[in-house]
Amino acid sequence: MKKKNLIFVGAPGSGKGTISGMLLKEVTLAHISTGDILRDEIKRGTPLGVQASEIMKSGGLVSDDIVVGMVRERLAKDDCKNGFILDGFPRTVNQAELLGKVLADLGMELDAVIFFNVPDQVLLERLTSRLTCKACGAVFNKLSMKPQVEGVCDKCQGELIQRADDSLETATNRLKVFYAQTQAVIDYYRASGKMIELNNLTSEQSMDVLKKELF
Ligand code: AMP
Repeated sequence: MKKKNLIFVGAPGSGKGTISGMLLKEVTLAHISTGDILRDEIKRGTPLGVQASEIMKSGGLVSDDIVVGMVRERLAKDDCKNGFILDGFPRTVNQAELLGKVLADLGMELDAVIFFNVPDQVLLERLTSRLTCKACGAVFNKLSMKPQVEGVCDKCQGELIQRADDSLETATNRLKVFYAQTQAVIDYYRASGKMIELNNLTSEQSMDVLKKELF
């Protein structure tokens, strides 16, 4: 299987995590979700977690220095040599520029940037009906992807909860932050010629495009 270094960029709820999960069943790549790393820091009550918690609850962005530091450390690990998916990072142009330096230092190159382009109405519906397993992080949906037993994770039997930042108020703010800060990241990578755009596709259609274009 071909090694690929990928970035998944798109608004919250655009399918980055879902497609990562589907792709990782078929190919071996390191999955680096800065949101997951931060949620783990919060769960463990680390100083970084305490610092990030309030920002995440409001839907704002954690500082570039913190997230770039986390990604630098993660990319240096051995499993990333066989390829990786950066999911939810970079979210600012500054993060994208700093990532360029990190990759150059590590002798790595990006193969493609996947842009998940989904209309706002769909994003808000998805975010506010999303259910996440407290134990393993698996994602379900009250409307479109119900678990077999209400409130229980199909994969690990953990408790399904609504993420604190998936409330209507915070989700709306996260979308605003996406347009204010992350939209420019898309233009930045579009100019690199490495972008694959998935325009409001179903997960099956997205998988077909990615397999055809990348693997
Ligand atoms: P996610 O799970 O990717 O939607 O991320 C959840 C939250 O974690 C975001 O709303 C931000 O508060 C924070 N976060 C995740 N990734 C980043 C990033 N690359 N830069 C800044 N904050 C981030």
